[in-house]
Order: sequence, then C-alpha cells, then structure tokens
Amino acid sequence: MKSKLNISGIGMTSQRTRERLLGRLLEQGISDMRVLDVIRSTPRHIFLDEALSHRAYEDVALPIGHNQTISQPYIVARMTEVVLDSGPTDKVLEVGTGCGYQTSVIAQLSKTVYSVERIKPLLDKAKKNLKMLKIRNVEFRHDDGSLGWIDKAPFDAIIATAAPQTIPLELLQQLSPDYGRLIIPVGGEDNQELKLVIRSGKEYQEKAIESVRFVPLLMGQIQN
Ligand code: SAH
Repeated sequence: MKSKLNISGIGMTSQRTRERLLGRLLEQGISDMRVLDVIRSTPRHIFLDEALSHRAYEDVALPIGHNQTISQPYIVARMTEVVLDSGPTDKVLEVGTGCGYQTSVIAQLSKTVYSVERIKPLLDKAKKNLKMLKIRNVEFRHDDGSLGWIDKAPFDAIIATAAPQTIPLELLQQLSPDYGRLIIPVGGEDNQELKLVIRSGKEYQEKAIESVRFVPLLMGQIQN
C-alpha cells in the first residue's frame, strides 16, 4: 500500500539521488528552471511498482506493465521545455497517459490538461497517482488518442508520448490555429524522431528535435 512516507521518498531514495538526476538533466541541456523545479519536486517513484521504485531517479524509461513504460525523465523534461518555450499552455492535450508521470509534470505548468489513454488499467492507475499528488487540473479519457479529443479542441499544445508512423490528421486539426504546437515522436522502433509542428492558421511548420525511442501509438482501446 502507498503511504505518505512513500510520497516523500524517505528511506527509499535519498535526496542526493534525486539531485543527481537534476544534474544530469542540466548537463544534457535542459535549461528551463520551471521544468527543472517541477521535476525536482515530483516524486517519480510513486509511478512505479515497489520492486522498481529504487530505480525511479535513474534517467531511464522503466516498465509499468501492459508492455508499456514510464518515460525517461530527460525526454519528459525536453518535451515539456519545448512546449513551454514556444507559447501558452492553457489547454494541453496529452496522448498516452501511461502511469501519468508526464501528465503530472505538464499539469503543474499548464491551466488544464486533457489526457487520453487506450489501456484502461493504466488510466485508472494514473488517476490514482495524480490524486495522491493532489494534482486536480487534469481530465482523463479512456479512448484511442490518435483521434484527439474533439469536444475539448482546439489545444494550445498536444504532447504525444507514443509514436505513430505518420502524424494523425486529427491531431493537426485540433491544434489551435493561433500558434498551436504538437510535439510527437514519429517513425518505427529503430528510426524515430521527435517532431515539433507549429500551426499558424492553415500553415503547419515542422521541425525535427532529436532521435528518440517511444512505444508505438496503437489504434483502438483495451478494457483490461
Ligand atoms: N506519458 C507516459 C508515457 C507512457 S508510454 C509517461 O509519462 O511515462 C505511452 C502510452 O501511450 C502507453 O500507456 C500506451 O498505452 C499509450 N498509447 C499508445 N497508443 C495510444 C493511443 N492510440 N491512444 C491513447 N494512448 C495510447
């Protein structure tokens, strides 16, 4: 059972281990202090099973069950930084909630986050995790997020944490015409690139950020 002690991490992960992660993010070029502060104060171990929680502050992706992973802190920091750097984040859509780690980081830096996950048990776990952290500005949806969330569109920013072969049209259409940004990994397992698309009216400008490795964006939804 998770307890208050578990949230603070006392006895599980020393403050030093957590500071070491921050040092690593700085070394790798993360420079937005808002992002670094949120990563520092967000306990990543609560998103993991007990058996893996001692590795929570390593800068690596780790398994969360259902063949999925919690994103690497560097990638979460980078995606969040890119999105924040380029404009407002009042309304943000996340595709691929997973355990809710990226969700909680971006939620602390946005007005409202809408997060869609196709695997029901993961979505339920994410809801519990965010509740534990008292993060309340997130609405969740169990659905195929490649369709976006049409009722809540347009979004200032869309963060996809699973990789399609090509960018779904629905996500482009649901970007705010006034400088909406989509950050999304695109490609197969061995040749993925993180892309930033910025919308200005009918124009979409695409920029490659860096090579990445995410789980694939899959169609449809799973109940259990
Ligand atoms: N954001 C998470 C990363 C989760 S891994 C974190 O911070 O750790 C990517 C997630 O995307 C998985 O949970 C997977 O089930 C989900 N996913 C894959 N395809 C999807 C789709 N079409 N719609 C919604 N979620 C999807």
